[in-house]
Amino acid sequence: MPQYTLEGVLREHAAGLADVRLAFNTQVTGFEDTGDGVGVDLLQLRSGITTNIRSSYFVGADGARSFVREAIGARLSGERDVAKNYSIIFRAPDLAGRQVHGQAIMYWMVNQDVPSVLGPMDQNDLWYFMATKLAGNVDPAKVDPVELIRRGTGFADLAVEVLHTDPWVAHSLVADFYHKGRVFLAGDACHLHPPFGGFGMNMGIGDAVDLGWKLAATLQGWGGPGLLAAYHTERAPVHRRTIRESVINYATVGNQLVRPDLEAPGPAGDAVRAAQGQIIKDSKIREFSTLGLVLGARYDGSPIVVDDGTQPPEEHSIHYVPSAFPGGLAPHAWLADGSSLYDHFGLGFTLLVTGEANAGVDAMRAAADQRGVPLTVAVPGDVRLSRLYQAAFALIRPDQHVAWRGDNLPADPLALLDHVTGRVRVGHRPSCTRSVNP
Ligand SMILES: Cc1cc2nc3c(=O)[nH]c(=O)nc-3n(C[C@H](O)[C@H](O)[C@H](O)COP(=O)(O)OP(=O)(O)OC[C@H]3O[C@@H](n4cnc5c(N)ncnc54)[C@H](O)[C@@H]3O)c2cc1C
Repeated sequence: MPQYTLEGVLREHAAGLADVRLAFNTQVTGFEDTGDGVGVDLLQLRSGITTNIRSSYFVGADGARSFVREAIGARLSGERDVAKNYSIIFRAPDLAGRQVHGQAIMYWMVNQDVPSVLGPMDQNDLWYFMATKLAGNVDPAKVDPVELIRRGTGFADLAVEVLHTDPWVAHSLVADFYHKGRVFLAGDACHLHPPFGGFGMNMGIGDAVDLGWKLAATLQGWGGPGLLAAYHTERAPVHRRTIRESVINYATVGNQLVRPDLEAPGPAGDAVRAAQGQIIKDSKIREFSTLGLVLGARYDGSPIVVDDGTQPPEEHSIHYVPSAFPGGLAPHAWLADGSSLYDHFGLGFTLLVTGEANAGVDAMRAAADQRGVPLTVAVPGDVRLSRLYQAAFALIRPDQHVAWRGDNLPADPLALLDHVTGRVRVGHRPSCTRSVNP
């Protein structure tokens, strides 16, 4: 799905929310955190009218050149200008039918002349084409785009209508902090990396999910001061791990895969092609099979997650091992009635009872009521769940990550809730222990 389609879906949903007002063609020109709120200056670009709004919190999701990041004094560190790239968006009605390898989301053109990648944007004959450097170190932006596409694809007579060209630079950078006072950063504003692997927008949405529930909890009064502080603590390691992976993916692009004789006819060429084919498979599989990275994002060691003393699953970028080790995504299951386990989770916290409920569950409910924490108790009655979760109980956060698990509910449920909602100071461990019956 192209990003503009996804953004259209998100925009339509946001526009339908009663307490959301969208303001396009409007620029934030300044803001001030006054300690009890944030004043934001807006400029309506078409009319030139300026306004000021006040809010409790302010999130700068303003992309790679984030002025909010600059304004709060956050610094990006890592590697800048990893490589220059050149993208072309074009229409080519004949191209899909001429692909000898059938339909794909991405084609890699590994040739001496124009090593490049190509893929369909949507189903309307719209394509993207991307090149880094050409033979002889020539900058692709200096070549006529139609000629470039024809040389890259090998279709010298291809009918091409160029719609857009875009020189862009890959970076590998992460901000040193993600919030100051009431002002937060999310998305490309606080982490940038080569797009190989397709992680950028995923991570931005992940930031919004993480920051979203923490802001909601704080505004609703049940989130403690440690909750928003945990945003950077939890997300930064995920960003760093993902950036490492996209840098690995980016280390092997078309230019590095070209070899002399790759296009030679006969056995000599066949041998080079077979050897390169294996190298491509070995090095590129992790770019397209990424469940271990995407679903395996973990918040181990977070101050608002309760470590249960067991070992987390081994980190792997390709293979995802579902595990209820606290900090990870709650393992999913399809239940006997065909429903998704996730559909049994509430919008706030969920106490998942993998076996049978007991008196401790009522105490947990009462504690949640006392603190105003929205709590759903889910008792799906599926015997497989206790094995999947390796525990009789699991406390799942609004973002579907496991905050705590155990075979016994804690004697002091308030202490557990205070821990996972950031009410207690960092370093304090609640008196809820885990006893596992493997
Ligand atoms: C070639 C390429 C391919 C990619 N492929 C993928 C992929 O396959 N999968 C994936 O997940 N990601 C991909 N990405 C990454 C993805 O595009 C970005 O990570 C994502 O767009 C970042 O979203 P964002 O909202 O943080 O920032 P942006 O998309 O940059 O949005 C920031 C917005 O803030 C606005 N803004 C800036 N300043 C102000 C201001 N002062 N006032 C008001 N508004 C302001 C901008 O106009 C813009 O609309 C790719 C990136 C590139 C370059």
